Amino acid sequence: MQLLKDRILKDGRVIGNDILKVDSFLNHQIDMKLMGAMGVELKKSFADRKITKILTVESSGIPIACVMGYLFEVPVVFAKKVEARNLDTEDYEGEVYSFTKGRSYIIRVSKKYLSSTDHVLIVDDFLANGKAVWGMKDIIDQSGAFLEGVGIVIEKGFQDGSKLLKETGIKVVSLAVIDSMENGKIVFRD
Ligand code: 5GP
Repeated sequence: MQLLKDRILKDGRVIGNDILKVDSFLNHQIDMKLMGAMGVELKKSFADRKITKILTVESSGIPIACVMGYLFEVPVVFAKKVEARNLDTEDYEGEVYSFTKGRSYIIRVSKKYLSSTDHVLIVDDFLANGKAVWGMKDIIDQSGAFLEGVGIVIEKGFQDGSKLLKETGIKVVSLAVIDSMENGKIVFRD
């Protein structure tokens, strides 16, 4: 999506060779006009799917997930992050290794909000190694719901998350794919 690529080039900041900071429009301050346009674009790729629920993980996936929920007219569920496993059997739990934080954490979704009749679209701000998506997929599998696909704002194509997901037959659509960020230079995939 050209609008997003232009914005990344204008306002994105590369940390090291593999972290992109986009706090001014996606991760801290949110540009809702851009968010709306991104939602419309992302929806096109899943318009043929019967989506009954949007799933994301707090907190940075929530804005784009809300736009998608609004456009599909379905509820948005966000997995909550907790420090330790709790003994509440009313939750589905998944484990996620955070690439940016360098540690694992547990995500959970109440059994009230996902069931075997749901067709779920996972939405997130970034796709790197795919750990957050696999954690959410684990929760979807526990609930018996069907994963229709994964919609991502920014994919870092030099990390293997997308490749591994696609290898298992999961539909993954990203609005911008970055092939490299070496020495601060952002190179997009066409
Ligand atoms: P993954 O689980 O695919 O390895 O990483 C995806 C998650 O980590 C996203 O939910 C996102 O919050 C965070 N993340 C990964 N890479 C980046 C990055 O380069 N910049 C930002 N802002 N977040 C990232």
